[in-house]
Amino acid sequence: MSNDSLIVAIDGPAGAGKSTVAQMVASKLGYVYLDTGAMYRAVTYLVLQRGVDPSNHQAVTSVAKEADIVLKSNAGNAKPTVILNGENITDKIRTREISNLVSPLSAIASVRDVLVKQQRKLATGGSVVLDGRDIGTVVLPNADVKIFLTASVEERARRRLKDLEKQGEKANLQELMVEIEARDTRDSTRDVAPLKVADGGVVVNTDDLTIEQVVDRILEICSQRACHSE
Ligand code: C5P
Repeated sequence: MSNDSLIVAIDGPAGAGKSTVAQMVASKLGYVYLDTGAMYRAVTYLVLQRGVDPSNHQAVTSVAKEADIVLKSNAGNAKPTVILNGENITDKIRTREISNLVSPLSAIASVRDVLVKQQRKLATGGSVVLDGRDIGTVVLPNADVKIFLTASVEERARRRLKDLEKQGEKANLQELMVEIEARDTRDSTRDVAPLKVADGGVVVNTDDLTIEQVVDRILEICSQRACHSE
C-alpha cells in the first residue's frame, strides 16, 4: 500500500479537538484535510439565511442540494476557509446559533445523503484526512485508519469557551457544558449515522494529552498501516 493513498477518518464528539488534530495530521502527511462538519454548518447557514423552516425536511434538503460548498485548508489553521455559493462564510458558521441548529438539521437522512455523496467523491483517490461524526462508520467504512477522538465534557466546553472568546462571543462554562452534552446526545442517539466508535476504530482520549502527543499517536497508527510522515 502506498503512503500516498491512505484515507484517515477522525470521528468524535463536539470539541474533542478533531479539526486541529486532523489538519495537523494532514499537513504532516502532505494530505488534503476535509472538515465535514463545516459542510453541515454551511447548509445550516444557508437554511437560516433563506428563512427556511428547519422542520421542513424537503425544503432543507433542497437547500443542501443548492449549496455549492468549497473548503480550502489553511496551513497552521484548523478551520478551513469555507466558500458557499461564492461567498466566504468562514467566520459566520462558528456562531452558537449555528452550532445549536446544525445538529437537528444534520439528523435529516436526505440532507446527509447529499453531503455524504460529496464527501465520498472528495475522498476518492485517498491521501486525505476527514473529520466528522460518521466518517469511519458510514461515509468511508473502509478507511485505512479510523480514530475516535474524545475528551471529557468539561474539557471540551473549556476549549469551546476559548474559541468563542477569541471570536468575541460571550459564553459561560456551565452553559456550554449543557449545550455540548445536548449536541452529543442528539448526535449519538439519532437514527441515521449516529456518533459511535467505528468497527476497528482506535479510541484516543485527549484529556491528558497535548495536541502534539495526539498527532504523534495518530501518525504512529498511520505508519503501522504502512504510511509514514514526510
Ligand atoms: O465538527 P463540527 O462540530 O463542526 O460539526 C457540527 C455538527 O455537524 C455536529 O454536531 C453534527 O451534528 C454534524 N456533523 C455530522 N456528521 C459529520 C460532521 C458533522 O452530523 N460527519
